[in-house]
Amino acid sequence: MLVFAKIKSVKQKISSLKKGTSVGFVPTMGALHKGHLSLIKKAKKENDLVVVSIFVNPTQFDKKEDLVNYPKTIDNDLELLKSVSCDLVFMPSAEEIYSKNIKSEIFDFEGLEHQMEGKHRVGHFDGVGTIVKRLFEIVTPTKSYFGEKDFQQLQIIKKMVKKNNLPVEIIGCDIYRETDGLAMSSRNVRLTKEHRKAAPFIFKTLKEAKLKFGIENAVNVVQWVQNEFKKHPLLELEYFEIANEATLQTISTKELKQKYRGFIAVFAGNIRLIDNISL
Ligand code: AMP
Repeated sequence: MLVFAKIKSVKQKISSLKKGTSVGFVPTMGALHKGHLSLIKKAKKENDLVVVSIFVNPTQFDKKEDLVNYPKTIDNDLELLKSVSCDLVFMPSAEEIYSKNIKSEIFDFEGLEHQMEGKHRVGHFDGVGTIVKRLFEIVTPTKSYFGEKDFQQLQIIKKMVKKNNLPVEIIGCDIYRETDGLAMSSRNVRLTKEHRKAAPFIFKTLKEAKLKFGIENAVNVVQWVQNEFKKHPLLELEYFEIANEATLQTISTKELKQKYRGFIAVFAGNIRLIDNISL
């Protein structure tokens, strides 16, 4: 496994290896877990060469303390990447990516960016768009893999690729969960014991909401979820929304042949957890 920190050297290496080769790319912010590894394993199956980036992107954090406290486990990350036969790791510094200008480009994702995470984390998706576009320029992947855990992000990246005609195929990957249902996340290690124990309530509630959505209208289901969290002593609901998968617009009535998803953000103490479920 080769590890690079400099843009020039990683570009050189990829172009020397690339000839006629498919490149699968998995961008991450490190603190890797089995969810990340499931993306990398899929990329390994579908490509000749797999590149993983580890970069905690400053421009996508709206809160400085979240950026500062983001878990960093680089030695363990490299071990895990070796264990799944990752070919190439790119782990640049912020300066390498942004020089002295740590700023986002401004994007128009045709409204996808104004919903849910975009409403609650101002500037987040401009930061995501900026780094992913930059990494695509550097890595020139054939396919790039994103988790449905961040479903809004996945849709936004697909939109960016389509709008700009970028020569990469975006592959969405299933949410990987702990056995108790909690969606794996780098942030889970920061949960207190009590909050970790409480957190599976999120997915349990999503599953119940899915059942209710079969027989009730969206407004009632949203209200039901809000009430469930009001009763919970440890978890604080930030939002639960039912939205159209393609437009991410919140709905009040169901239409035939449309796909819907429930999206949730919850505070467990000061750790913010997100999840979603296909309805
Ligand atoms: P992150 O390091 O959190 O930026 O995540 C890097 C990639 O891994 C993103 O495409 C995430 O959606 C994906 N990912 C993170 N957690 C999971 C999970 N539990 N299941 C599937 N994909 C995930």
